[in-house]
Amino acid sequence: MSHDYKILIDGKLTKPVKGGTMDVINPHDNSVVATVPRCTAEDVAAAVEAATRAKAVWRNTYIGERAELLFKIAALIRENQDELIALETAQYGGPVMKTSRFDIPSAVGEFEFMAGLGRAHTGLTISADPTARVMTFKEPLGVVGLITPWNFPLVTAVSKLAPALIMGNTVVLKPASCAPLTVLKMAEYIVQAGVPAGVVNILTGPGNEVGEAIVTHPGIDKINFTGDSHVGKRIMSLAAPRVMPVASELGGKNAFIVLDDANLDAAVEGATYSAFFNSGQNCGSPSRFYVQEGIYDEFVKRFVAAASKITVGDPTDPETMMGPLAYMKCRETAEKFVGEAIREGAKVLLREPLPKELEGGAYVMPTILEMYDNKAHYMQEEIFAPCVGVMKVKLPEDIAALVNDCHYGLSSSVWSSDYRKAWLLCEQLKVGTTWINQHLAIVPETPWGGQKESGWTKENSVLVLEEYTYHKHMWMNMDDTPHTFWEEQIRL
Ligand code: NDP
Repeated sequence: MSHDYKILIDGKLTKPVKGGTMDVINPHDNSVVATVPRCTAEDVAAAVEAATRAKAVWRNTYIGERAELLFKIAALIRENQDELIALETAQYGGPVMKTSRFDIPSAVGEFEFMAGLGRAHTGLTISADPTARVMTFKEPLGVVGLITPWNFPLVTAVSKLAPALIMGNTVVLKPASCAPLTVLKMAEYIVQAGVPAGVVNILTGPGNEVGEAIVTHPGIDKINFTGDSHVGKRIMSLAAPRVMPVASELGGKNAFIVLDDANLDAAVEGATYSAFFNSGQNCGSPSRFYVQEGIYDEFVKRFVAAASKITVGDPTDPETMMGPLAYMKCRETAEKFVGEAIREGAKVLLREPLPKELEGGAYVMPTILEMYDNKAHYMQEEIFAPCVGVMKVKLPEDIAALVNDCHYGLSSSVWSSDYRKAWLLCEQLKVGTTWINQHLAIVPETPWGGQKESGWTKENSVLVLEEYTYHKHMWMNMDDTPHTFWEEQIRL
């Protein structure tokens, strides 16, 4: 896997001005997967300058040509998928079962979907006044800064890059430091595809240095960020002096609600998959379960039995369902949350000891705790690990208050065979997405994003295009006679 990774500035694959590097570590065994460039604020300045120069060229490129370039990048990703799958698995521990079926195909799909969708996107015409013609004209925002996390490294970057480009913006993109390799490979495809110089610039380096230099650079017109809520707040505070817009997809503490009349087979399978897929490192994974008392014992028994069957281990093994967390610090954080909950009285329902051969990696076994206090940190904070809490509830009427009593508002699901009851409960939940008899279905056609401290932006669907365009209002009188409220007075 040895490769000379480079950043992309002004159409050239290059090294940072100061020549710094940083290692990417495999969380399975702590080996060094690769060494990548470590940029500084000087590289950010060069990238923003290049993106600024490229603005006029790109916004005036026919949208069909822009779409064609997105299709070319998608084709290059598809051509190189085996290498990208291996890199994705090595850098953040996503099992090949996931990276081959989800990460890389979804990145291709996002490019292709956005290339088509953007071409059909129009402004509004408004019937405001019979003497005028009024419309909104969609303009690109300019230079957008994209800052992305590690849990789906390539596809999260693409789900921002593709709509930004098709809508005519130029871009400075920074992936997460622990998992930048597939995005750096994409930089090579962007050059190969023939995207004009400066339209896409890709930099690697620490968030508190390179990320903040992007956010505070006066040439950036908008930031689109996915990551932790604390970091999102920091970015918003840095953007505030210029009143620069920040789109943010932040953390979640998602609820899984099982009512007495749920189909138990479906609920157990849905719970096990959605809570432990990608080792629970999904912003939308459920980590707090509210289960009605009539079904509680049976649901918990079967959920624990199903979760204990998950194969945990080397993510390169095609049979592995759950790999390590992204890095060792994530394991320490998860263990801290679990330890605190147990000390405070939570009952352990599932927490197998870590097999000896996995002790050196960032592994956490599937963990299910029975919880009694909705205010416990374990039920309120995002752990981002395969660690969930289950709580027994008496009445469906009590559930909405429990779910809403949390500073996050990303997603939830209700499991019930009474669709009317489920729907009415969903209406009471202050979240961005709420599923019925489903959890974690996220596709390009449907909008994704949260409320409250989960952020206020939409990814995917036609709505994401709005994040990268400005509706300029244009009003044209149909003649040159005066049409103002004062026209009589002024004539006098
Ligand atoms: P982080 O917030 O730690 O990092 C995300 C990105 O922000 C990285 O590129 C990081 O760089 C950068 N960054 C860190 N500090 C700053 C800063 N001060 N200024 C600018 N940029 C900065 O998130 P993780 O990578 O740990 O990803 C997990 C988080 O992402 C979870 O909270 C998860 O819920 C959330 N997420 C939300 C989604 C949603 O749709 N709502 C989807 C996916 C994930 P570096 O890596 O160098 O630190």
